[in-house]
Amino acid sequence: MVSRVIPVEDFDLVIFGGTGDLARRKILPGLFRRFLSGQMPETSRIIGAARSDLDTDGYRQLIREAIAEFGGEESSDAEGIDAFLGQLHYVTVDAKGDGGWSELHDLIRFEVVNAFYFSVAPSLFGDLAERLHTYKIADADSRVVVEKPFGRDLASAKALNATLAEHFDESQVYRIDHYLGKETVQNLMAVRFGNMLFEPLWNNHYVDHIEITVAETVGVGGRGSYYDKSGAMRDMVQNHLMQLLCLIAMEAPSEFESDAVRDEKLKVIRALQPVEPHHIVRGQYDAKGDEPSYRQDAEDPRTFTESFVAMRCEIANWRWAGVPFYLRTGKKLKARTSEIAVVFKDLGHSIFPGDEKRHRNILAIQLQPNEGMQLQVTIKEPGPGGMRLVDVPLDMTFAEALGPDAEDVTDAYERLIMDVIRGNQTLFMRGDEVEAAWAWTDPIIEGWQARHDVPKLYDQGSSGPEDAMALMHREGRKWREIKG
Ligand code: NAP
Repeated sequence: MVSRVIPVEDFDLVIFGGTGDLARRKILPGLFRRFLSGQMPETSRIIGAARSDLDTDGYRQLIREAIAEFGGEESSDAEGIDAFLGQLHYVTVDAKGDGGWSELHDLIRFEVVNAFYFSVAPSLFGDLAERLHTYKIADADSRVVVEKPFGRDLASAKALNATLAEHFDESQVYRIDHYLGKETVQNLMAVRFGNMLFEPLWNNHYVDHIEITVAETVGVGGRGSYYDKSGAMRDMVQNHLMQLLCLIAMEAPSEFESDAVRDEKLKVIRALQPVEPHHIVRGQYDAKGDEPSYRQDAEDPRTFTESFVAMRCEIANWRWAGVPFYLRTGKKLKARTSEIAVVFKDLGHSIFPGDEKRHRNILAIQLQPNEGMQLQVTIKEPGPGGMRLVDVPLDMTFAEALGPDAEDVTDAYERLIMDVIRGNQTLFMRGDEVEAAWAWTDPIIEGWQARHDVPKLYDQGSSGPEDAMALMHREGRKWREIKG
């Protein structure tokens, strides 16, 4: 395959938290793949920064082990690994102390793109931002990358935004939601805004409802006590599902430019209606044999935090008035899948005698495990027996349609980090978007707390609590099956 990779500008990327789980599992292996693809200039440097007392050789060894564990197929490329590790450096710094900062200043090359990845707890963002300025390491051209969770409610998100704003302009801040870096998510915009076929039908005249499902098979496991402070609503809906909803529902921006796209997404969030309590179902997975229940995993037998949530939302604007958006996400479900389904209305009248089924076109977009799209269309069942109709999927799995080029699907983190170096904020959340999403989420969570809402138990390996099914059944609709 001819490589279409365009190298980015020369850069120095400092990863605060460079010894942590995220850096070892995602960021460094991702950068290694970009290095192998030829996208990372040979002079660029990645500087790990954390409190651990390591030197550069020690850090290179740590990342060598991380690539062996998490680097996938490419981790067998010994020569490539050596060359990549040669571009790594390490500085011992404490976000809350003064050691190491002058050394970091001396290491940075100010004539190239400078990016600072805050892969640490959000409570350290303020300290890092402040010291980057005190030691004159960051300037008006620097970029900062911040990880989720971006706050746990509107007040904390505002405080984080204010902390960053003290030292950085919004145009310098890259808030990561790795869902936005997925190939299919970007394809969603290409399909919507690059084709004549769908856009005329993309509204309440033709769409019956839209489903967004993000299902996981894993439980909260060892992260139980951490997860219990957030729950599915904060951990998944406020960010990932909300971003998918925005991309599905937004108006076409006048151009594919970061603020134009984010302005349209913001309008969707602001048009989201408050959700009635009877339009939300929360759940917790039950124990199954030796497999612990959510409460056991969370190490709190009385916790009311949800590991599952399903809801019916509405967007109050001309395009979507009256069209329900059903969102659901949960852990320990039947299969691991992320899918968006646009379910079009049925014809209302069939000209084919004996054809009583309500045939519907469905555009199903899968984000994981296999990225692709299917369009369900109605055709004649082959063979004799008259005009019997059947619904079949037109499969657009990218691997089949695009052949070897489809293998070039870049991991979300890799793409997003390269976007930071390019200075492209389109796939990053703007501060006002995050705040608007919390402003919608907060009253829902506060309502649960005020009502002492108790999540419904559901079986591990199921599709969630029975009540979640009823959410759609009582409106004559049915969730799509959760399939891996
Ligand atoms: P982690 O494994 O606990 O790593 C934290 C990192 O911060 C370590 O490198 C630690 O190194 C460093 N650190 C802690 N205190 C510091 C200080 N005072 N000064 C400088 N460095 C300090 O956490 P993580 O899982 O990598 O997560 C990092 C961030 O990413 C968090 O905000 C998390 O919410 C977010 N995130 C993580 C994941 C994931 O899959 N792990 C996914 C999404 C978002 P030392 O102890 O050596 O200082």
